[in-house]
Amino acid sequence: MTQAHPRTILHVDLDAFFAAVEQRDRPELRGKPVIVGGGGPHDRGVVSTASYEARAFGVHSAMPLRTAGALCPRGIFLPVDGAKYQAVSRQVMAVLRRFTPLVEPISIDEAFLDVTGSRILFGDGEQIGRQIKDEIRSAVDLTISVGVATTKLVAKIASDLRKPDGLVVVEPGTEAAFLAPLEIGRLWGVGAKLAEALRDYGVRTIGDLAGLPEDLLVRRFGKHGAALGERARGLDADPVGGRDPAKSIGHEHTFDVDTSDPDVIERTLLGMSEGVAGRLRDSGVKASTITVKIRDTTFRTITRQRTLPDPTDLTEPIFRTALDLARPEVRGVRIRLLGVTASGLGEREQLALFGLEDPRRRRAVEAADEVRHRFGERAITRARLVGSRLPAPFEHDPMSPLEARGIETDDGGRADGEPDDRDTQDDTTFAEDGLDVT
Ligand SMILES: [Mg+2]
Repeated sequence: MTQAHPRTILHVDLDAFFAAVEQRDRPELRGKPVIVGGGGPHDRGVVSTASYEARAFGVHSAMPLRTAGALCPRGIFLPVDGAKYQAVSRQVMAVLRRFTPLVEPISIDEAFLDVTGSRILFGDGEQIGRQIKDEIRSAVDLTISVGVATTKLVAKIASDLRKPDGLVVVEPGTEAAFLAPLEIGRLWGVGAKLAEALRDYGVRTIGDLAGLPEDLLVRRFGKHGAALGERARGLDADPVGGRDPAKSIGHEHTFDVDTSDPDVIERTLLGMSEGVAGRLRDSGVKASTITVKIRDTTFRTITRQRTLPDPTDLTEPIFRTALDLARPEVRGVRIRLLGVTASGLGEREQLALFGLEDPRRRRAVEAADEVRHRFGERAITRARLVGSRLPAPFEHDPMSPLEARGIETDDGGRADGEPDDRDTQDDTTFAEDGLDVT
């Protein structure tokens, strides 16, 4: 069926994501069979991702590591560095959001985009697909495979056909013909059992399934049957939907030694404001409300909140507001914990990208983001921090192991039994560790 106004949907999938990140970061691993997952070939876990070199030995995701070790004795086994992959994933999703606000991440390494409304700015689906491939390569030095189609279903099948570094475009009206020769197991919702049941009806390909009468499918498979027939013809009305957007983005820091030093407090607020602003930008949103949280040495906790005149994703206004709010509350008080949270989040207006704000400033901020992503949160040290003879707060203060790797600073010190009052403070990650990624 040809729709009067066909949608343009992209499915974007990073190629051998975890393994590719390791090969990117360690050139000596390039061209080698890299197997990411668990503790090595004698571990009881499974393969998370195998590099294409390892796949040549028959190694694949979800395979027991021991099997992988037997198939590929010279494989290089690496543990899953979830925090690192999450950080890269956030960069990738931020690139995708430059092309449309309609981005639906479905796992750490893949997402759907509805670019129907972006065609006027960026060209047709194929052109957008190429631009995204280029921008992801320059942002994170990784390859993706892209499927372009009128439905999520067909876009996802298309992206999988020419991995790695593929781009497969299915023109409107050709969905059924595109799917017809493909093996039935490629269709969503058709697992091994259903494929076996369909074999009884002579179904080997998606086209075979599309050719079965609908009443037969309904009689045999119930209401699922009708949907199956539609899918086999490439029909899938499912819209690209965002996940529930994060309600707030926040950082907290617990001091190793309670402090009343105004310099330390100020620099800590600055460091956290910088982190919050960076994550707002990564997520493509601006915040209209800033909240500071202050816990003193007696565990008395207060929060102070202010709505900004203009929503922002920049450090300066967040820091100014946080400092204003905190200053009267911290004077002469020994402080145990500080937090800065941004809420009232809204999509950054597309138009802002095209001239409604100072483009030089935006570019400078984005350049700083690049450095921050590449070297971790603490790489960007503002003149204000450098100018002080005191070390920057995050270098000075002991860090949790995760923080020491420069990843998340949210729960600086909750290990020591702080009450967990951050339940609205979910951040913007969607990664699932140990996920089967291909
Ligand atoms: Mg993938």
